[in-house]
Amino acid sequence: MAEDKTPPRLKSAAEMGRIMAEYFKELDAAAKDGSRKIAWCTSVGPAELLQALGFLVYYPENHGAMLGATRMATDMIPAANAIGYSPDICSYLTADIGSYLNKKTPLTKAFGMAGPPKPDVLVFNTNQCRDVQDWFAWYAREFDAPLLGVYTHRNIGDIEPHQVGDIARQIENLVEPLEEIAGRKLDMADLRRAVGLSRQCSDLWKAVLDTAAHKPSPITFFDGTIHMGPAVCLRGTEAAVDYYQKALLPELEERMANDVAAVPGERFRLYWDGMPIWGRLRDHSKMFADLRTNVLSSTYCNSWIFTALDPDDPFGGMAKAYTELFIVRSDAAKEAYIQRMLDFFKVDGVIYHDAKTCPNNSNCRYGMPQRLETATGIPSLTINGDLNDLRLVSDEQNKTNVEAFVEQLEEGR
Ligand code: SF4
Repeated sequence: MAEDKTPPRLKSAAEMGRIMAEYFKELDAAAKDGSRKIAWCTSVGPAELLQALGFLVYYPENHGAMLGATRMATDMIPAANAIGYSPDICSYLTADIGSYLNKKTPLTKAFGMAGPPKPDVLVFNTNQCRDVQDWFAWYAREFDAPLLGVYTHRNIGDIEPHQVGDIARQIENLVEPLEEIAGRKLDMADLRRAVGLSRQCSDLWKAVLDTAAHKPSPITFFDGTIHMGPAVCLRGTEAAVDYYQKALLPELEERMANDVAAVPGERFRLYWDGMPIWGRLRDHSKMFADLRTNVLSSTYCNSWIFTALDPDDPFGGMAKAYTELFIVRSDAAKEAYIQRMLDFFKVDGVIYHDAKTCPNNSNCRYGMPQRLETATGIPSLTINGDLNDLRLVSDEQNKTNVEAFVEQLEEGR
């Protein structure tokens, strides 16, 4: 019988499942009894401000990823196409709106919920793309709920004070309308506390991802996409801090101390740029492990590291943190960042995922892989696919290309 090389599951997954279930239970209860106001927020939106005003915060992108991971997305997308949302735009958006129209959600099986909690307000930040604005605007019309937004600069090289100042003012301008919806005044002590907890969560999440620099790496990119749930949905809360501090990080440190590899027999170390293919996480994890290759770090998981968050300067810190994101930056800034990561994580090769419906997070379309290869000598492979729409993924072709790439790495040794 062939040896099963599927990477061992992290034990902390059970604790993560528990806190995520608690989070959804609280949202569901509040949506039913009206005990708390609910804000929908983009994944790199001003969540801390919403928490400080007492809102429970729900993230539609997380739902989009769940639709992808459960492989429900592909069947939901056509319903959104039928009301005018193109199959070429963000397949989180189309899968999520399609799920609403079809009245089918993975939240039912996972947490017994009939659907996502109804919003009292929707707040977006265009730092990642324009799609989030259109996505939230659709629901704002559907629920007749207020829509608020932050409009971020794009293609940023070095972050300039005027950009941070502008975004800080935009976030401050959200306070008044949010106070009205929340029915209470913002207490700056609450905002500092939320920002402080969010910063702690971010530092711990960074420490978790940095363990991948160890040889052999105790974690894979695929683990990261699962264990980032609290960093996205629960940042600003004690639950997320506790999870990383008391469960996940100690488990990874123990693996490092004992040289336990996430991919047994780790031979090659790869970096992933772009979105995951949510419906293929398990298959990809196994495919790379079978080749004794660990995809161990990514720009994607690192996007929830917000080192600029500062409880002593909550608005300025949030503005900087949500503006210096990788996705907002110029190609030159992105290339400098990736070079640092390749060096830090001691990487042998790079995989670029060209996600058909997310040009915002596909960095291989304007020559970046070639430029970085020339600069670093580290080879790369581009695979075509999509985050959610599995009709755009060719498994056979990706497998053949990955196998050939690892063979090339082998020959290069
Ligand atoms: S960044 Fe990409 S995947 Fe994320 S919401 Fe925007 S278009 Fe969708």
